[in-house]
Amino acid sequence: MKIGVLALQGAVAEHIKSLQQAGADEVVAVKWPQDLEGLDGLVLPGGESTTIGKLMNKYELMEPVREMAKRGVPMFGTCAGLILLSNRINGQDWAHIGALNALVDRNSFGRQVDSFEADLNVRGLEGEEPYPAVFIRAPHIMEVGDNVDVLCTYNDRIVTARQGNLLGASFHPELTDDVRLHKYFLGMVQEAKATV
Ligand code: GLN
Repeated sequence: MKIGVLALQGAVAEHIKSLQQAGADEVVAVKWPQDLEGLDGLVLPGGESTTIGKLMNKYELMEPVREMAKRGVPMFGTCAGLILLSNRINGQDWAHIGALNALVDRNSFGRQVDSFEADLNVRGLEGEEPYPAVFIRAPHIMEVGDNVDVLCTYNDRIVTARQGNLLGASFHPELTDDVRLHKYFLGMVQEAKATV
């Protein structure tokens, strides 16, 4: 199982560490189109989505990543990564990768609360304990298509959703020691590999 982490901006090293702790055999940083070769899954970290989108275009990663999503390669977008993955962004008439059937609202938890932690119940995670989530200028999902499963809401806002091989979270799972969400994603990758 070879997983890539888009390494243009954001907490790349932390995602790599969490994936390794969650049991991934091989994790690579993706900076160039050739780094996408042979990947069984791709993680899109947080940061600033407009900047990451621009860099993806500049480094010629946008088209190949769109193609991979179409082929069904599992992808996990966290925070800005969720925005990159979604097909609609509130207040703008274009999207980035545009694969996840969801309308996202950026910086939607208010400017006065730039960041906070919350205990969440995310459907599908192993164990009973709540999942400690770190939100930083986080987006939320305003609307999802019929083919999307809502895995978690916080204050009536969708903060985790899955559509087949695509997973999106509003928060930063790489900034906590709890690797259950990374494990969940690796489970998706395993399932996808088994059906090829
Ligand atoms: N606010 C950022 C954006 O809109 C996302 C924040 C994050 O990834 N921590 O792109």
